[in-house]
Amino acid sequence: MGITNTANNSFFESVQRNFDKAAQFTRFDQGIIAQIKACNSILRVKFPVKIGDSIEVIEAYRVQHSHHKLPCKGGIRFSMEVDQEEVMALAALMTYKCAIVNVPFGGGKGGIKIDSRKYTAFELEKITRRYTSELCKKNFIGPGIDVPAPDYGTGAREMSWIVDTYSSLNPTDINAQACVTGKPLSQGGVHGRTEATGLGVFFGIREACAFQEDMEKLGLTPGIAGKRVIVQGLGNVGYHAAKYFQEAGAKLVGLIEYNGAIYDENGLDVDQVQAHRQTTGGILNYPGAINFSDPAEGLEQACDILIPAALESVIHKDNAERIQARIIGEAANGPLTSEADTILNRKGVLVIPDIYLNAGGVTVSYFEWLKNLSHVRYGRLEKRFSENMYNELIDIIESTTGKRVSDLERKMVLRGPSEIDLVHSGLEDTMVDSYREIREIYRNREGVEDLRTAAFICAIDKIGVAYEQLGIFP
Ligand code: GLU
Repeated sequence: MGITNTANNSFFESVQRNFDKAAQFTRFDQGIIAQIKACNSILRVKFPVKIGDSIEVIEAYRVQHSHHKLPCKGGIRFSMEVDQEEVMALAALMTYKCAIVNVPFGGGKGGIKIDSRKYTAFELEKITRRYTSELCKKNFIGPGIDVPAPDYGTGAREMSWIVDTYSSLNPTDINAQACVTGKPLSQGGVHGRTEATGLGVFFGIREACAFQEDMEKLGLTPGIAGKRVIVQGLGNVGYHAAKYFQEAGAKLVGLIEYNGAIYDENGLDVDQVQAHRQTTGGILNYPGAINFSDPAEGLEQACDILIPAALESVIHKDNAERIQARIIGEAANGPLTSEADTILNRKGVLVIPDIYLNAGGVTVSYFEWLKNLSHVRYGRLEKRFSENMYNELIDIIESTTGKRVSDLERKMVLRGPSEIDLVHSGLEDTMVDSYREIREIYRNREGVEDLRTAAFICAIDKIGVAYEQLGIFP
C-alpha cells in the first residue's frame, strides 16, 4: 500500500458507501455486486528522475478499477494529494461514469504525486515520459488495454508526451494514437475535447433545469437564463462551464480560485476575470466585486446553482449547512463528502452527481478514441454529400414555392456537419439522454431519494448485466 492520507481514505469510503446504498436497490447477487465494487488491478511505481543536479524519486499510480469492458479509461492527475486510496476512488468513479453515459470502457485512473508548479516543462516532460514507459513495461497502457486522458494538473501537452513515448516503444502498433485521449489536434486529438467536460456540465444542468415540476419543488423557474451561478475552480472544466452558462444568459455571480473568491450580484464576465487574473496573478480585487480571501467563503454565498469544479471534498459536514444554492452541479470528482450529501439532501437541494455530470470529458474521449481507431476524421465522408443534398432540397423548395431563399438562409442551411458539430451534438445527446435515464430511476424506483443513488443504480444495472453476459461465474 502507498501512503494514504485520512481525507483520501474517507473519499474512498464515501464512494464505497454511495455504491452500497445504491446496490440495495438492484437485483444482482452479492458476488456480482462485490465484483463490480472491487478494484481489479493496482500499479504503484517509484522511479528516479534527474531534477537539476539531484535525483528525485517520484511516486505514481495507475488503477484499473474494472475490466468488464476494455480498455480501461480515465485521466492522469498531477497533485500532491495523490495516493493509492485517492486513485482507487477516482478509478471507481470512472467505471460508473462510463456505464451511465454508455461509453464502452472500464474505469481507470492514474496519478503522479508531484506539485507541477515546482518543475520546469522539461522536467515535467521527463517525469511524464518515464511514467509512460513504466506503464508500457507493466502492460498498463494501450489502445485496447488502458487509455489515459487529462485530469487535474494535466492537459494536451502531457498527453502529447504520452502518445509519443508509447508510439516509440510500440512502433508497429497501427493504432498507437489511440493509447491516450485529450491529445493536441496535430497528434490525433479531436475537435471539442478541450471544452468537453465543461460543456457536458452545462448540458446536464440545463437538462435538469428544463423540468418544470422539479424546478417548482426547488422554488425556481425552469431554464438557465437569469439563474445566479457560482463556479469554484477556473481550470479547464470550470472556465468552460462558466463560459457556457454566461452565454446562455445565466448570471455568473461568484468565482472561486484556490487563493480567494469574488462575488458580484450584478454578474461577472468570465473572460474579463481571466484577463484580470493573468495581469494581477489572482482573481481578487476585480473591479466592482466583493473579495473573500478565504476561498471557502465563496461557496456559501447566495446563488441558485453552485458548480464545484476543482478537487474532492470541498463541501463537507462543517460547511454544508451554510450552502445557499438550490442546485449543486458536481463538475469535479467527489466535491461533496457523504455527510455533506446527507445534509444537502435533507435541505432539499438538488445535487447533480459527478458520475453523471462530468462525464462529458470521457464521452468526447470515446469519440477521439473511435476517430483514432478508424483513422478518419469525423465528417470527412458526409460533409460534402450533405451540402449537395441540402442544395438540391433548397432548389426543390424554390421551384415548388416560386420564392427564392436569401443568400444568408441558403448559407445557413447548406452547412454539412464538421467534426466539431458532430462532437458537440453527440455530447449533447449523451448528456440529455443519460439525465432522463437517471431521473426515471429516481422517480420510479421505490425508496430512491436522490439523484446520486439513482445514478449509481443506473451504473450497477448496466455493469451487472455485462458481468452476467460475460458468463464468468460458472
Ligand atoms: N479526467 C476526466 C474524468 O475524470 C476524463 C477522463 C477521460 O477522458 O478518459 O472524467
